[in-house]
Amino acid sequence: MPELPEVETVRRGLAPVMEGARFAKVVLNRADLRYPFPKDFAKRLTGKTIDGLGRRAKYLLADISSGDVLVMHLGMSGSFRVFRDAAERTPGAYYHDRTKHAAHDHVVLHLSNGNIVTFNDPRRFGFMKLIPRRELEDEPFMRALGPEPLGNAFDAAALAQACAGKQTSLKAALLDQRVVAGLGNIYVCEALNRARLSPKRKASTIALRSGAAHERAARLVDAIKAVLNDAIAAGGSSLRDHRRTDGELGLFQHHFRVYDREGQPCPTPGCGGTVRRIVQNGRSTFFCPACQT
Ligand SMILES: [Zn+2]
Repeated sequence: MPELPEVETVRRGLAPVMEGARFAKVVLNRADLRYPFPKDFAKRLTGKTIDGLGRRAKYLLADISSGDVLVMHLGMSGSFRVFRDAAERTPGAYYHDRTKHAAHDHVVLHLSNGNIVTFNDPRRFGFMKLIPRRELEDEPFMRALGPEPLGNAFDAAALAQACAGKQTSLKAALLDQRVVAGLGNIYVCEALNRARLSPKRKASTIALRSGAAHERAARLVDAIKAVLNDAIAAGGSSLRDHRRTDGELGLFQHHFRVYDREGQPCPTPGCGGTVRRIVQNGRSTFFCPACQT
């Protein structure tokens, strides 16, 4: 599952290709992905200009000159490729491999600037929707999103308030998209290690009895922002055979502190602990029991 840094890396790769271009031709090779494509999908896009390409949580949002927003989600296995003349590149970098099998190229966007953008998704958990801009904020999937972790609204006070009284684990709270939008398993594990907080700790313990922020909330917010910024700077969490738009391999996976590193030494200076793997809510958690308390 791509996480926020991967999606942001994809956005940064696609923006220079798509922004300002018109859709010359839109080809759908099937009727649905996770959901059916909107009625008249190709007709509503063809001839229209892409005014901008933004992101909210893990959703890519292309503002179209018609007043619609093209919402794109990568799901589990989705990826974009850009073709121009004989050259091909894959924006973004993923921890898990992406296929290039043409049988999974479900959407082909021919742009007026000569670029062809394909959306490939073997497992088809991704989706595309067309929503009028003025209705976007009312969409259930948008309304359910908490603050952007890299935005100014996400601070210690906001996180503490969202976690106050929660009896769930801190890890489960951070995976809850209403608490903070766009975080997944990898970066939650990484942020908790940086903040030296146990994933098993009750979420409520980052708030004071009054609901105000405990010092732990400030540490955690700093760690979340730092780990995301580092991953975006490295081009997503990276991978085996995928390359960023400039041809460099994303290298963030070499910087994972705990994720997928069971049995390795904890990287916290002076800790000397060993990374352990446990299962919480059916998913692997990697953490250091020595310094994460
Ligand atoms: Zn440690």
